[in-house]
Amino acid sequence: MIKQLNPPRRILMGPGPSDVHPAVLQSMATPLLGHLDPAFLEIMNETMDLLRQVYQTENKVTLAMSGTGSAGMETLFVNLVEPGDKVIIGVNGLFGQRMVDVALRCGAEVIQVEGAWGDIIRPEKVEEVLQQHKDIKLVAVVHAETSTGVRQPLQELSEIVHRHHALFVCDMVTSIGGIPTKIDEYGIDAAYSGTQKCLSAPPGLAPVTLSPRALEVSANRKSKVQSWYLDLSMIQNYWGEERFYHHTAPITMIYSLRKALRLIVDEGLENVFHRHALYGRALHAGLEAMGLELLVNEKHRLHQLTAVRIPTNIQDVEVRKRLLQKYGLEIGGGLGELKGKIWRIGLMGYNARQENVTYALAAIEDVLR
Ligand code: PLP
Repeated sequence: MIKQLNPPRRILMGPGPSDVHPAVLQSMATPLLGHLDPAFLEIMNETMDLLRQVYQTENKVTLAMSGTGSAGMETLFVNLVEPGDKVIIGVNGLFGQRMVDVALRCGAEVIQVEGAWGDIIRPEKVEEVLQQHKDIKLVAVVHAETSTGVRQPLQELSEIVHRHHALFVCDMVTSIGGIPTKIDEYGIDAAYSGTQKCLSAPPGLAPVTLSPRALEVSANRKSKVQSWYLDLSMIQNYWGEERFYHHTAPITMIYSLRKALRLIVDEGLENVFHRHALYGRALHAGLEAMGLELLVNEKHRLHQLTAVRIPTNIQDVEVRKRLLQKYGLEIGGGLGELKGKIWRIGLMGYNARQENVTYALAAIEDVLR
């Protein structure tokens, strides 16, 4: 006999998924519509409109791909890159590494610009490579590196990339809804994100946005996009005016995204960013007051994801196990070269609240005692 579904109660303060807003969970119990029902098409339009507001863009092609954040990553690379294209990827953590893997699978010639894990990608290093190679198609970086807690400054980098006539692509999986993304103001040509971090929705959709310039590059491809499922020319015909069937939209996930975005827009983007900054800083201060050291310097530290160095005499896995068992509190361990060296604590979306900061600090202090 299989038992009833009754998972333990948790507070998800790791690197994501993060807790879903209760109103978003409730929206997922809304009865289905058909994926071509005019009422559902209207819901899609509203979702695109809300997404533009939260991404801070007027880009017409701003829509939600079916799949998690990695599907968003793959969407941009398969549509923008053709075999033989030269691309620059900033690698200062696990998700930069993943972009390299995806770009190589598209047949790209990848030039990696590396940064230390815990530091940013230095714009001058990117510029050096752009000066050496005249034919770079795109430059991609991770805005909020969830594996390290680093916030990559975008504006200067964007100016450099455009001076060299390349496209600027950003991973915004952990930034959307947590810190300003300013797609249009910074001239970002394409970005992707996920729903399970600062948007406070479950994992399952990958919002993407593409500028007219990026769309033109994609439209002028010599070869067919190698992925049928992620081919934006067909996806656009479903989300755009044509409304051609491509694949059955994940209706419930789109309800949840619409609700999550509406909550953010209703609260006000600036208020949402301020809330993340306020409680992020409170968490940082509390951890430091406990004698713990943060991985990233204050200037480039994210508010929504904090990397803390594990003290040398402390057992990583044991501490996380006790937090989970005694407090139902999930925090993350380190990845890649930071495995066993850091914990990652998320304060994303709905969880960026005083009570979560207080609870996490008290629980960590108790378990470390
Ligand atoms: N990029 C970043 C910065 C992420 O944090 C993640 C997930 O944690 C991804 C990409 C991949 O997203 P997913 O795991 O939803 O496929």
